[in-house]
Amino acid sequence: MNSKLEHEIFQKISQVADQKQIEVFVIGGFVRDLYLNRPSKDIDIVSVGSGIEFAKNIAKSLNPIPKVTIFKNFGTAMLKYKGMEIEFVGARKESYHRDSRKPIVENGTLEDDQNRRDFTINAMALGLNKSNFGELVDPFNGIDDMEDLIIRTPLDPDITFSDDPLRIMRAIRFATQLGFDIEDETFDSIIKNRERIKIISGERIIEELNKIMMSPRPSIGFKLLEETGLLKIIFPELQKMKGVEKVNGIGHKDNFYHTLEVLDRIVPNTDNLWLRWSALLHDIAKPATKKFIAGQGWTFYAHNFIGVKMIPGIFRRLKLPLNEKMKYVQKMILLHMRPIVLSEEEITDSAIRRLLFEANNDIDDLMTLCEADITSKNEDKVKRYLSNFKLVRGKLKEIEEKDNIRNFQPPIDGELIKTTFNLQPCREVGVIKDAIKDAILDGVINNNYEEAVVFMLEEADKLGIKKTN
Ligand code: ATP
Ligand code: MG
Repeated sequence: MNSKLEHEIFQKISQVADQKQIEVFVIGGFVRDLYLNRPSKDIDIVSVGSGIEFAKNIAKSLNPIPKVTIFKNFGTAMLKYKGMEIEFVGARKESYHRDSRKPIVENGTLEDDQNRRDFTINAMALGLNKSNFGELVDPFNGIDDMEDLIIRTPLDPDITFSDDPLRIMRAIRFATQLGFDIEDETFDSIIKNRERIKIISGERIIEELNKIMMSPRPSIGFKLLEETGLLKIIFPELQKMKGVEKVNGIGHKDNFYHTLEVLDRIVPNTDNLWLRWSALLHDIAKPATKKFIAGQGWTFYAHNFIGVKMIPGIFRRLKLPLNEKMKYVQKMILLHMRPIVLSEEEITDSAIRRLLFEANNDIDDLMTLCEADITSKNEDKVKRYLSNFKLVRGKLKEIEEKDNIRNFQPPIDGELIKTTFNLQPCREVGVIKDAIKDAILDGVINNNYEEAVVFMLEEADKLGIKKTN
């Protein structure tokens, strides 16, 4: 392990620690990630004594001297050095009140500090004084849990989770990120303490959910949330997707597991968090629109439109942004069935132009979502759809190059229609405008001003409107 503390900051810390005669350790996530060979930019340093004082002393020993940011309320200090963010804290002992996750803090020993950590794999420390440089201090056998791929609390899990229920989310997040199992007693305790999640702010919860979303297999996290009963508390709309109803022996697919499959399938093809959210939410209105119709079987009529309507409520509650990111997710949900319908029919230029017009610069993302959405046990079916999508993609490219539909604005706007015919704002203006747009998208006229003017005059004539000059 010695050799792994390569960053020169550790030597500096070691020197200053010995000079000042205080015990200093690197602890927590950094140590865990060192063993797992995960890159990490955050270093947490614990000193037995004031962390803020120690940080100031370290800063003085560096060249150039970095700025030290002090968080007095937390008793911590932070500085940045050669690409690393280093946080300093004095070893502490914590005790909790039932109605808050803010502990009462006292100075303590390294052992006290390790006792307050959330999981055994997050409680390991490496000595930084010369006498114990790189030596592992691992009172809860985190090393074994790392080897066995296990998430476990260091102390009684009921106390750990009840003290700070954010740890429930963290347990599930680490299980997802690292592909670890949650140990049985820890798992049972999550179930027992799940209602405590209600004292955690939405902002903290979404931070963990987004980390789950950005993991290699987000489905692990959502399945754990479901199994522990947390999903119905924090995300009831997703919980409702689970289960299969039958009428006359006919069932539909379980939309919860289907959605998770889509989500996992999109992960290798995009790092865009919002495209991943679109995958998770694309069928969110299926439970609300589900209907069994004799002769047709299960239908989910207009689930894309209803899904779009559900999004602001979900985003507001989950503390997701109510800005263009949300609009993007809504657009993906609205259009998510279009490419598949297209690929089932004869692919006309007109249908391709319409799709390009509506999806605009997000067309590639939409195709990525639709490709992930093709899940079936029938391999031939999947193959057939994916090869149809290739055709659609090819056609999209061809039409885009030819007609330049993305970001397309019809060459004639409402203003020009009004002045040409001396009209006040009225229904007819909209009718003529839409007719011009449709004519271009359908290939009736080309996308230029001259042809659009001629077409405009014809349309107006049909409505009995005459040019004024
Ligand atoms: P990541 O940086 O990927 O979020 P991490 O484990 O490093 O994971 P941090 O929030 O950076 O998480 O916290 C650093 C360390 O502080 C953790 O490894 C853990 O020892 C401790 N810690 C953080 N949050 C808690 C908590 N809610 N309860 C107990 N210990 C915690
Ligand atoms: Mg960290």
